[in-house]
Amino acid sequence: DIAMYRAKAVGGGRKGIFEAGMHTRAVELFRLENELRRAIERREFTTHYQPIISLKTGLISGFEALVRWRHPERGLVLPDEFIPVVEETGLILLLELSVMREACARLAAWQKRFPDHRPLTVSVNLSRNQLVRSELPEQIERTLLETGLDARSLRLEVTEGALMENVDSAVATLSRLRDMNIRVHIDDFGMGYSSLSVLHQLPIDALKVDRSFVGRMDGVGGDAEIVQTIVTLAHNLGLDVIAEGVEREEHLRQLRKLGCDYAQGFLFSEPLDAENAQRLISSYRRW
Ligand code: C2E
Ligand code: MG
Ligand code: MG
Ligand code: MG
Repeated sequence: DIAMYRAKAVGGGRKGIFEAGMHTRAVELFRLENELRRAIERREFTTHYQPIISLKTGLISGFEALVRWRHPERGLVLPDEFIPVVEETGLILLLELSVMREACARLAAWQKRFPDHRPLTVSVNLSRNQLVRSELPEQIERTLLETGLDARSLRLEVTEGALMENVDSAVATLSRLRDMNIRVHIDDFGMGYSSLSVLHQLPIDALKVDRSFVGRMDGVGGDAEIVQTIVTLAHNLGLDVIAEGVEREEHLRQLRKLGCDYAQGFLFSEPLDAENAQRLISSYRRW
């Protein structure tokens, strides 16, 4: 039931942010929603930025925006501890749109500040709840207008599971977004259950190889072959490939050999607050 779900959602047996112990799901969700609403009002959520490296140029091509909660008692809390619970309330929509707004504004500012840099992109994660909302494209269009970011600089990351759950309405929404020149990336690819026959019909631009495959590329378990297969599959479908969870030089070397297009991971940088991300851009570092 809900108590078990919570314990799982916040990560195994660890003490979570949200304690189960109230009697009904309705009461619990009500309490939670109020707490989250307050956190949003107090601007306790903040966005960090992790660079994505072009393996062709070795330069930063853009950033993934990743939300964090600056919790007054618990310090910086990572999304896996609260997103699954926030998704149970309607507030996920509000939270994600505020992450998107902040990220688009930040990227527009960086593009202005670094005019000689190839226009940096920003990737924003969307939960399954967003994909069934027909008003999403208008909301994103408004955000782009208000922040001054070019639609071509925005990427939306959706998981296979989110896309497949309601594939018809997700495809309709994502098609409209792509008509606006926004790109769509499949996140954590390989962990879901997209059938290959559906994949080529989806309105998408790139696959992000799940970090569990990338992290084991240098072992003997056959994960290098899986990554190679995903790269080939993507390229045959005309899609780009981004490897996530790149932690070691050996991963980078192999990914380059496989012709992977982009890479992201702790080898380059962990997610940084805006100030440190800006410092990284200004270093013009080349990998
Ligand atoms: P994701 O979208 O797959 O994001 C990548 C996650 O992998 C990030 O975790 C990042 O810090 C982590 N990561 C990056 N490089 C490495 C590496 O080399 N090694 C390892 N071990 N990890 C690496 P983070 O920031 O904790 O976010 C976790 C998940 O929370 C994200 O996975 C995404 O699904 C979700 N999330 C984050 N922000 C949002 C948001 O605004 N909306 C929604 N719906 N979900 C979000
Ligand atoms: Mg992502
Ligand atoms: Mg991912
Ligand atoms: Mg992931």
